[in-house]
Amino acid sequence: MTNAKQVIVLGGGYGGILAAKKLGKLFKKDDNVKITLIDKKPYHTMLTELHEVAADRVPEDSIRIEFEKVFAKRKVDFVLDEIIDIDFKGNTLKSEKGTYKYDYLVMGTGCKPTYFGIPGAEEYTKKLWSYEDAVGLKEHILHMFREAVKEPNAEKRRKMLTFVVVGGGFTGVEMIGELAEWRDRLCKDFYVNKDDVKLYVVDALPKILPIFPDKLIKRAENRLRKLDVEIVTGAGITEVKPGSVIMGEKGTIEAETVVWAAGVEGADLLDNIEIEQKGRKRIVTNDKLQSVDYDNVYAVGDNIFYIPEGEERPVPQMVENAEHSAPLVAHNIHADIKGGDKKSYKPAFHGAMVCIGGKFGTAHVGLPGKFFGLPSFFAMLSKHFINLLYFFQVAGFNKCWSYVMYEFFNVKDNRSFVGGHLAKRSPNFWLFPLRLFVGFKWLMQGWEKLPSILENPSNIFLIPPPVSGGASATAAASATAAASGAADAVSQWGEALPVPEFISNIVSWTMDIFFYTPEGGYTKLAEIFQAGMVIGEIVVGLLLLAGLFTALASIISVVMGLMIWSSGMAPTEMLWYFAAGIALIGGSGSTLGLDYYVFPILKKWWKNTGFAKKTYLYID
Ligand SMILES: Cc1cc2nc3c(=O)[nH]c(=O)nc-3n(C[C@H](O)[C@H](O)[C@H](O)COP(=O)(O)OP(=O)(O)OC[C@H]3O[C@@H](n4cnc5c(N)ncnc54)[C@H](O)[C@@H]3O)c2cc1C
Repeated sequence: MTNAKQVIVLGGGYGGILAAKKLGKLFKKDDNVKITLIDKKPYHTMLTELHEVAADRVPEDSIRIEFEKVFAKRKVDFVLDEIIDIDFKGNTLKSEKGTYKYDYLVMGTGCKPTYFGIPGAEEYTKKLWSYEDAVGLKEHILHMFREAVKEPNAEKRRKMLTFVVVGGGFTGVEMIGELAEWRDRLCKDFYVNKDDVKLYVVDALPKILPIFPDKLIKRAENRLRKLDVEIVTGAGITEVKPGSVIMGEKGTIEAETVVWAAGVEGADLLDNIEIEQKGRKRIVTNDKLQSVDYDNVYAVGDNIFYIPEGEERPVPQMVENAEHSAPLVAHNIHADIKGGDKKSYKPAFHGAMVCIGGKFGTAHVGLPGKFFGLPSFFAMLSKHFINLLYFFQVAGFNKCWSYVMYEFFNVKDNRSFVGGHLAKRSPNFWLFPLRLFVGFKWLMQGWEKLPSILENPSNIFLIPPPVSGGASATAAASATAAASGAADAVSQWGEALPVPEFISNIVSWTMDIFFYTPEGGYTKLAEIFQAGMVIGEIVVGLLLLAGLFTALASIISVVMGLMIWSSGMAPTEMLWYFAAGIALIGGSGSTLGLDYYVFPILKKWWKNTGFAKKTYLYID
């Protein structure tokens, strides 16, 4: 192991994390290669969601994932450390704690805000480039409202309730949009008149979102104006002072809160290292994404300065660039170590989207040369879909589940593009009587049939007999009931609900294969199935009564209802079994049921199993 090749990924952002995971996969069975990811934080931060935390739409933790969780049971070691210098000739990373030797290095240290030397910009503005920034900004906004309401001086109060975002690009527009959406809640909670709150987005360029076509810019502007955001364009900031932002000839806005979202440059480390850089501290690479100075140093994501063939501009500092570059870099390092052809970076970008709050978005997407605008609903839908795809790669089901929960089910103030329709508001104790009732009904259904199957298991009364020529299932069922002597069990279902013909045909076809002998009798499987149904009814009934594994029991209840319906034997009564089953899925056993006690224990045990860690099949 001491002679193992050391591959170090520096920075676990969008590019670094995917590169490390891919390297882990490629060298899974190779003990001669060691992969380490070093980051100054113990978690990966979803930078694209920062504004959602800053404006209190989603919980703080929702935008972080611990590296330990991401790399659990994988061939990637995580080291928490901040690298302050790199000796490229000696292949060594340096931190205050020590040094790290590498054979191959992936640079993924990302960006930080840039202030263009504007006086006061760094000192007197809030930034939005990390988890801590987002949490700090949220606390600051709350503090402003909390204090403003007590402020007797009108001018001071106005300044406290004025919020300026500098930068009309994606980050700035998303931040001001999110804040505008939060404003109603803030005003309500702190007894502030909505008209006293002023929101501005300011940009030096003549328009916001300049990479969008004019039609989409208009849509975004209309939305912002609808949310009472004032858009100030052509306003280059000349100075920021405590309590005011000066926009040259365009005047001054008095505001206690100025958020800086006006441009980026490479992370601090890039100031200290000797490697060819261009375009505000990006590492110049060749088409294989190797540094032009050191061919064992690769770059991913925002660190890359590379102009693809036929293009005029370097690759954009966006998530898609990080996602495309990561697997390519992993492949090329694999080729370096194991031999084989390296790939050239030929990224095809699919556009950009901007969300203004949780309910509105606009997007310009497509394939190179064929781009089109997406209406709000589809823009939001694709944003969530893209995020889910990314989260699935990083932390599988676990992260996707929590994302869906906080974006759709645990939303506050209807701040989701599907409004509050999916929001889980009703306390589960309202479902307690329903759970007992459905449980009792299933138990009774099974209990009444039990003597028949115990007495004579080959007496089939829950499966219609084979009927040639497609006789109605109801008739078949009645015939079976009469023939079987189990009239009580069947007749209590009453008149059957209609079943579409294509479903009847599928069911008949399946039954022909599994349940009927060529001679017109029943197979052994039919007996087992019938006994299983009866036992299933009893078990589901007992589980619902006890409130144990209620989600599973409710799902089985729904499936049994569907099976009975599709076999043409379900009366109208079955509709409420079905509807009640759906209502009970969402945690009805968590109050006044055994799930309340059993689930936390099971969850804790399951989360710690190697299988769950490796597959991410658990919820937090
Ligand atoms: C608020 C906001 C909104 C955005 N919205 C979008 C969007 O909607 N769509 C889009 O495509 N892009 C968006 N971006 C840009 C996108 O987030 C970046 O392009 C992407 O994060 C780049 O990924 P990366 O891996 O290069 O770097 P990052 O994700 O920035 O990760 C860098 C990592 O390196 C670590 N690091 C840095 N220096 C050191 C050091 N010296 N030692 C150890 N570790 C270090 C950091 O802790 C971090 O984990 C947004 C950015 C922000 C800030």
